[in-house]
Amino acid sequence: MKDSTFNPKQQEKDISSKIVAGLERISEVFKVLLWEKAKLVGLSPIQIQILIFIAFHKRNLCNVSHLAKEFNVTKPTVSDAIRILDKKGLIIKDFSSYDSRSYSIILSDLGNDMVSKTYDFSFPLKKQIDGFSNKDLESLLGTLSQLIYKLNSNGILTVQRTCYGCKFYNKKQDIDYCNLLQKELIKKEIRLDCPEYEEK
Ligand code: SF4
Repeated sequence: MKDSTFNPKQQEKDISSKIVAGLERISEVFKVLLWEKAKLVGLSPIQIQILIFIAFHKRNLCNVSHLAKEFNVTKPTVSDAIRILDKKGLIIKDFSSYDSRSYSIILSDLGNDMVSKTYDFSFPLKKQIDGFSNKDLESLLGTLSQLIYKLNSNGILTVQRTCYGCKFYNKKQDIDYCNLLQKELIKKEIRLDCPEYEEK
């Protein structure tokens, strides 16, 4: 109990605990910002997240199974959200490339309009991050990308699309290299959500 990362006394003597507590605070930011947007447009946070995800990712990731993994919710939760988005005319179910029980999800014109009203929910956070120096930003990206990869390797985070878990990634004498792009990846080029990512 005493060594809980949420115990301020534990945080005083252990920097990792302090960082975990900080990450927990930051995770609240996404909830707050999403709810603010949700109230404005009359959708739920998960419905907004699904629309934005569909807008920026390949069709093969835009289905109920993947969305459940992506957002760590159950398939019925995603199906419910999709049903409401469908009812509001914001998405279209595309049965063409799957068997008759399954479908991928694409945005309707109305859905695209909704994305243009909601995609910027994270900008207040980005604005604060923009204020850090390039050196700090590169260091933070390096730490985040390693952390995401480790959490995924340990089975805690179900989805990741970072270079470190990609079959095209190669470490050559301390140099990060992408075999697909055929180039060295300097620190700031390590990707967290690469469209070309393929699992090792
Ligand atoms: S394909 Fe993308 S994720 Fe994979 S190594 Fe290259 S840049 Fe990184």
